[in-house]
Amino acid sequence: MSGQLTRRNREDLLIRDVSHAFALDGGPLPVLDHITLDIAAGSFVSLLGPSGCGKSTLLRLIAGLEPPTEGDILAGGELVREPGPSRILAFQDATLFPWATVWNNVATGLAARHELKGREHEIDAALELVRLGGFAKAYPHQLSGGMAQRAALARALVNAPQILLLDEPFGKLDSLTRMTLQGELLAIWKRTGFTGVLVTHDVEEALLLSDRVIVLSDRPARIIREFTVAAPLPRRRDDPAIVRLRGEILSALGHAEPASGQAA
Ligand code: ADP
Ligand code: MG
Repeated sequence: MSGQLTRRNREDLLIRDVSHAFALDGGPLPVLDHITLDIAAGSFVSLLGPSGCGKSTLLRLIAGLEPPTEGDILAGGELVREPGPSRILAFQDATLFPWATVWNNVATGLAARHELKGREHEIDAALELVRLGGFAKAYPHQLSGGMAQRAALARALVNAPQILLLDEPFGKLDSLTRMTLQGELLAIWKRTGFTGVLVTHDVEEALLLSDRVIVLSDRPARIIREFTVAAPLPRRRDDPAIVRLRGEILSALGHAEPASGQAA
């Protein structure tokens, strides 16, 4: 079937020499600078970089919301040209529709594509997956921040995306809720096997969830370092390998930690 991409899983996500610039009054604003990244199907990759460097832009391009100025993005061996249910961008603004129940919020995508009929059970299953089964009839204002993020995750997962693009999903949550949701996301990833691309500011979050951590430069974003995280899942924050990588990533980001006075 996939004769074109020999030795490559046909579901891999390939970002090939992608540059992007926005047109502004004073001239082009370069945002991405020759990004090349192969993301294996079913893997989980995190993107870290300074605020405003172009991380969300890269996710938007992968989602097909706009075409890159230069370069190609291939998903499943095909050029990404438009948004589609196999590539879902979640959380940029995890706004649920306030007038709709949790169930109806999660059903939005299927309903918009006129695919809801006969697939109602998939909404229920997505809600169960994020442990919101008992809140199908609740309205967004009746949810905690963590529950709202779970509902947003269910809304993405109900599409059974091959590629799930997560833009700072837990950034606004308190740290305990964030830890819970990180664990849940990991469990859901293991169960459903999507390819994950996570943008986060949280180095630990990247290390706990991903196979690879990509560090981007200031705008226009270039890839400055790549780290492979080999520690088995689930990971502990105090795993020495994680602690060491955390230090290396922080220094790649230009935030060297003060010496602790003893060798790690
Ligand atoms: P990050 O997610 O890394 O914080 P973004 O990708 O959101 O960064 O933005 C990168 C840069 O591109 C910023 O300087 C931002 O102002 C600019 N930018 C993003 N979207 C647009 C747009 N639609 N038009 C013009 N400039 C944009
Ligand atoms: Mg962003």
